[in-house]
Amino acid sequence: MVEFKNVSYTYPTGQHALQHVSLKIDDGEFAFIVGASGAGKSTLIKLMLRELAATQGEVTVNGYNLNKLKSRKIPELRRTIGVVFQDFRLIPSMTVYDNVAFALRAIDAPTKYIRSRVPYVISLVGLAQKAKSYPNDLSGGEQQRVALARALVNDPQLIIADEPTGNIDPERSYEIVDLLKAINACGTTVVMVTHQHDLVKYFGGRIININTGAVVFDEVIGGIDETQQL
Ligand code: ADP
Repeated sequence: MVEFKNVSYTYPTGQHALQHVSLKIDDGEFAFIVGASGAGKSTLIKLMLRELAATQGEVTVNGYNLNKLKSRKIPELRRTIGVVFQDFRLIPSMTVYDNVAFALRAIDAPTKYIRSRVPYVISLVGLAQKAKSYPNDLSGGEQQRVALARALVNDPQLIIADEPTGNIDPERSYEIVDLLKAINACGTTVVMVTHQHDLVKYFGGRIININTGAVVFDEVIGGIDETQQL
């Protein structure tokens, strides 16, 4: 769950990035966040991850009131969130398996759990055959699937995908959103930032449009699939 109550954020330079943003994304929802470059999307995500603290207003994520969250509690918050970035951020010297296992090893998960959980999430994203490959030997779409497996391995309540299709072939973009939709169908909340209007139109659902730091549109629209069924 993500809730912004009248949130504003101003960078130390004086740049107002968000102004009076209120929105609520419930557990189990899938929301696209769209908006032009410079609109405030990254700032919104940084506030959700508590990389930035709101200048004004209240941010709540997965039950954590981020205004009151102590620094030592920030890792606990972040363990409830899986993040996928445009540039994948995989470790090139590690296999697919180790890239995914890394997140569990970092929190000292039991070896037995790692040995069952990692192959499971790798197969979930369709890469069982590539577990021993290195990121540089994979296509962009496959690398993003690894990043998705890594984001999922901790079984987070919320997945934040920041332009996850920005560096991959347009036709592969649909597969990534299909995967995110499947993950969402299993109960994980998904927030996906995108520039790709074709994706948003195709899948439909909740669209939150940010423009110059404000929410200018927040509605559920039908996707092309549904339109064709009419
Ligand atoms: P988006 O992700 O939609 O492209 P951002 O959230 O990055 O937008 O930026 C929102 C506004 O804040 C823009 O005007 C941008 O120039 C400004 N901004 C972003 N990062 C910084 C920063 N570190 N320092 C100052 N201004 C920034």
